[in-house]
Amino acid sequence: MNKAVFLDRDGVINPLVYNIDTGEYESPHYPEDFSIYPHALKSLKILKEQGFIIIIISNQPSYAKGKTTLENIKAIENLLCIFSEENGLLIDDYFYCYHHPAGVIPEYTKTCRCRKPGTLFLEKAIKKYDLETEKCYFIGDQDTDIKCGNAMNMHTIKINNKHSLKKSGTEIPNYFAADLYEAAIRIQTLN
Ligand SMILES: [Mg+2]
Ligand SMILES: [Zn+2]
Repeated sequence: MNKAVFLDRDGVINPLVYNIDTGEYESPHYPEDFSIYPHALKSLKILKEQGFIIIIISNQPSYAKGKTTLENIKAIENLLCIFSEENGLLIDDYFYCYHHPAGVIPEYTKTCRCRKPGTLFLEKAIKKYDLETEKCYFIGDQDTDIKCGNAMNMHTIKINNKHSLKKSGTEIPNYFAADLYEAAIRIQTLN
């Protein structure tokens, strides 16, 4: 059996972006707003060296909510793929949910099981990669991420991102970290 680190994307791999319309820090809506944290490369390398499969699990409801286009969302995803491939395939797989229960685009407006804290993507990944969940980690900056990992009996690490504090609730992770690098070092220590 294999082990994986599941990563939330926004606020973990890339910074959240200030949205002047809502006054909040949100997922990037345009490829030109997307940047990767400088520490992401060395963090992902540490996790790969530990023998983990690296899988992104991300909610991307911005198109469903009418905030951007599907093309922009895909262009951003492609930038992360390019980063991964240029660095020796750091990320093995990506699972994106485009739905939102209160969207404005009918075909993407629904209550689904893939939107975190729904665990459908985790269930799929566990089967696809024959994962031993007790050896897996879920790293994210919101309660929904920690709920996901906890529900599947994975170790959970909460990234303390000041821009996502509003979406931080009462779900208790196994560990806290300031950023992805601190989380990667923690996992290295535990292995
Ligand atoms: Mg996030
Ligand atoms: Zn979904």
